[in-house]
Amino acid sequence: MANLLEFRNVTKTYTRGFFSEAGTTALADFSMVLKEEDPTILTVAGESGSGKTTLAMLLLGFIDPTQGQILYKGEDIRNLRGDARMTFRREVQAVFQDPFAVFNPFYTVDHLLTVPIEKFKLAKSKAEARSKMDEALSAVGLRPEDILGRFPHQLSGGQRQRINVARALLLKPKVLVADEPVSMVDASLRANILESLRGLHRDHGVSIVYITHDLTTAYHVANSIVVLYKGGVMEAGDIDSVIQKPEHPYTQLLIDSIPWPDLDRRWGTDGLSVKESELSDKGGNGCRFAPRCPYAKDECLTASPPLHRVKETQVASCILHQQHPVLPSANLTDVLPV
Ligand code: SF4
Repeated sequence: MANLLEFRNVTKTYTRGFFSEAGTTALADFSMVLKEEDPTILTVAGESGSGKTTLAMLLLGFIDPTQGQILYKGEDIRNLRGDARMTFRREVQAVFQDPFAVFNPFYTVDHLLTVPIEKFKLAKSKAEARSKMDEALSAVGLRPEDILGRFPHQLSGGQRQRINVARALLLKPKVLVADEPVSMVDASLRANILESLRGLHRDHGVSIVYITHDLTTAYHVANSIVVLYKGGVMEAGDIDSVIQKPEHPYTQLLIDSIPWPDLDRRWGTDGLSVKESELSDKGGNGCRFAPRCPYAKDECLTASPPLHRVKETQVASCILHQQHPVLPSANLTDVLPV
């Protein structure tokens, strides 16, 4: 069976002007696979500027790679035409950060849900369309009778975001890209939305690519994680290993900065969150994280460290792990469990 989705050595560089040769690499040599028969929840984590949103935009086909390929069911998504393109558009859905953005204030919720049903010809009658709407809303824990017929301003942010998830579900997607879906929602409602996403995965076999800067929510929903920094993979693996025993100084820094409720819990290395390396950034040939890394040495500045396989399902791009084997082709496929 062909892979559902494959990133094959994908690099995305943004240039500043038409004649400008230098550019900013938002994502560098990224390779991984989502398998159709093994749906998963994969977190892509990092700070602003890490490349995680670029990865989402590439996956959705909104932007093209500068190098490499993104394949959907074995076909380069740039080459999809006609029915194949419509299938990709239907099967790869997105839920974005702002639960308000997709709502037109002059239309009821019914309209938002009817548009995709009509566009993709999902129902042969109004009764069938209504039945599908009911099913999708119920799947995300909303009561259709409370929601349908309402205008956006009559709904909470949490309800709107769950309607967005229901809208994606209507299309029976294979992949859902959830880009910071709870960051603009009240903390009290986040668990509901995240549970809706887990339900989509568990009950409907949808693979979810959960893009976030928030490792606490990632820990609760995901099977695996990729940590990005300035477009490069710093660490990746199964979520328990990476969060409980991070092997890259950047992941340790992210985890150290979380106000975990358990005061006895010790993460990472003392002082890492406050100390900045005295090494300066010498042109970007070395480790991306060197200017902030307390362990940085001169050799960190000469070449970008490869991904070392510290265990079966965990890799880290750091010379501190150079006793471990290098991951061939930097391909994360076998490292990320489902
Ligand atoms: Fe720090 Fe060097 Fe490891 Fe980069 S390679 S994270 S600078 S120790």
